[in-house]
Amino acid sequence: MTQRSAFITGVTGQDGGELARLLLGKGYRVHGLARAPSRFEWSRVEGVSGARQNLFLHKGDMRDAVSIARALHGAQPDEIYNLAAQSNVGLSFEQPDETFDVNAGGTQRLLRATRLLGLGDRTRIYQASSSEIFGPSDGHPHTEETPFNPCSPYAESKVHAFETIKHYRDALGVFACNGILFNHEGPHRWKGFVTRKISIAVAAKHLDIEAPLTLGNLDACRDWGHVRDYVAGMWAMLQNDVPEDMVLATGEARSVRSFVEAAFAYVGHDVVWDGRGLDEQGRDARSGEVLVRINPKFYRPVDPPIAIGDASTARRVLGWRPRVTFQQLVHEMVQADIERLRILAAAGEAPSLVAAVAD
Ligand code: NDP
Ligand code: GDP
Repeated sequence: MTQRSAFITGVTGQDGGELARLLLGKGYRVHGLARAPSRFEWSRVEGVSGARQNLFLHKGDMRDAVSIARALHGAQPDEIYNLAAQSNVGLSFEQPDETFDVNAGGTQRLLRATRLLGLGDRTRIYQASSSEIFGPSDGHPHTEETPFNPCSPYAESKVHAFETIKHYRDALGVFACNGILFNHEGPHRWKGFVTRKISIAVAAKHLDIEAPLTLGNLDACRDWGHVRDYVAGMWAMLQNDVPEDMVLATGEARSVRSFVEAAFAYVGHDVVWDGRGLDEQGRDARSGEVLVRINPKFYRPVDPPIAIGDASTARRVLGWRPRVTFQQLVHEMVQADIERLRILAAAGEAPSLVAAVAD
């Protein structure tokens, strides 16, 4: 049997590294597009047999059509996973143009290049869409039928990319689908996301490293799953008989506050809350020490109070279901940061990681 090949944009990101690991484990030849190939953490594919021989990194940028086309031409992939994005909602309010150019413009450039190179007939395309396209939930889980109501520049850019994929599928007959994914996290989540910000601060507390945890909206609820389960779902969507847009979610929403509590509980601290609004604080139940403070700069102009998804289509069609529980996710993230910080502390570098989450 010939070796299958995949092309991943955003291979240096959280999902890209995890997907590369999954595909290499399945025997694929994997091509990754990266702005800086040197940023790829080889440790993420460690232990996978043949990873070094089967992973090829191409320098390219989603804002540059020629670099995308050159990399695609070299890769000649059976499957494309378009994961590259300015992926942070908060940052998208500060950098809306870049967000749109990479997320929406980048998707168009990629699809045009695919067609130009004559890959449209044989290559299947997965687009990293997002639950943010739906906006706030009215309490009912979002499905593929939920109307779009984007509430941030990030969400707007993802709606545009969604429609581009739909156009290539419906009008041009390309096997292309949108995975509408709810938040998924893991030890490689970027520090700008709240879960990783919390796991780093809690790990630091555990190791007696000075790291105040300052957050915004504690009551926002998100449907948090584990990245391992979600990349398996991406792959399954491209093995389906027909291209179909699908939601991946756990179906359970938890608050930022409960993520904080679960993370501190893992290292032996019970958090109690006092004060209201911007004066609210989380304290250690035994010592009274302040563990969490609020800073208004971490609030967003618009922020869906709750996001929750219904993945019954993916369950019915693909047999997909999340395996990792919320507690397991939190524990894995905190434990990974404890191990990282121990190594950095031994080299005298822990403060740099901790300072990065305070910004
Ligand atoms: P990350 O932020 O971890 O990774 C984003 C990737 O995109 C990085 O590899 C980054 O490269 C790359 N990238 C950014 N700008 C460019 C550019 N101009 N040209 C080329 N590459 C670029 O995101 P995730 O891995 O978490 O998410 C993957 C995808 O899934 C994204 O599209 C995201 O929007 C979407 N998504 C993620 C969810 C989640 O909860 N994780 C939920 C729903 C959707 P570099 O290393 O150079 O910065
Ligand atoms: P998002 O759902 O993709 O925007 O993922 P984030 O992890 O960035 O944010 C999840 C939720 O946590 C949002 O409702 C944020 O408003 C909320 N939140 C509260 N405090 C913070 C913070 O300090 N940083 C971030 N990134 N989010 C925070």
